[in-house]
Amino acid sequence: MYRTYEELIRIPTFEERLKYLMVKQPVGEDVWGSRRRYNQLLYTSPRWRSFRNSVIIRDNGCDLAMPDRELHSGLLIHHLNPITLDDIINDRPCIFDLNNVVLTSKQTHQVIHYERDPSLVLLNGDRKPGDTKLWQ
Ligand SMILES: [Zn+2]
Repeated sequence: MYRTYEELIRIPTFEERLKYLMVKQPVGEDVWGSRRRYNQLLYTSPRWRSFRNSVIIRDNGCDLAMPDRELHSGLLIHHLNPITLDDIINDRPCIFDLNNVVLTSKQTHQVIHYERDPSLVLLNGDRKPGDTKLWQ
C-alpha cells in the first residue's frame, strides 16, 4: 500500500486518518542499531530542519493536519511510507517529499508504528487554555 498526503487530507476524521497511516513497524531508529547515526545525521541537518519547518507550516501545527488538533509540544514529522537506511544514504527523494510526510505528535506516532491503543490519542490532543504555539 502506497500512501500519499493528498489522499490523507481528503479523509475527514482523525480516527480514519490514523487507520490510513498505521504502518505497524518500529521506527527506523529502533531497528538500525549502530547504524542509527545516519538517522541522526539526517534529522540534525539544516536541510531537514528547514524541510521540517515547511511541513509544520503546511499542516498549521496540527496533528495529522486535522484543523481542530493543534499541537503544542513533541512535534514529529512522520513519513507516510517509511524510509529506509538505504534511502538516507542514497539521499532518495522520498525523504524530502512533501507528499510523503505529515506532522504528528509523539503519542500519535507511537500509535501509528506500534499499534498503541488509539484511545490514547482520540481524545482531543494536549490543548490547555492559555497555551502558546511553540511552532510560531
Ligand atoms: Zn513515523
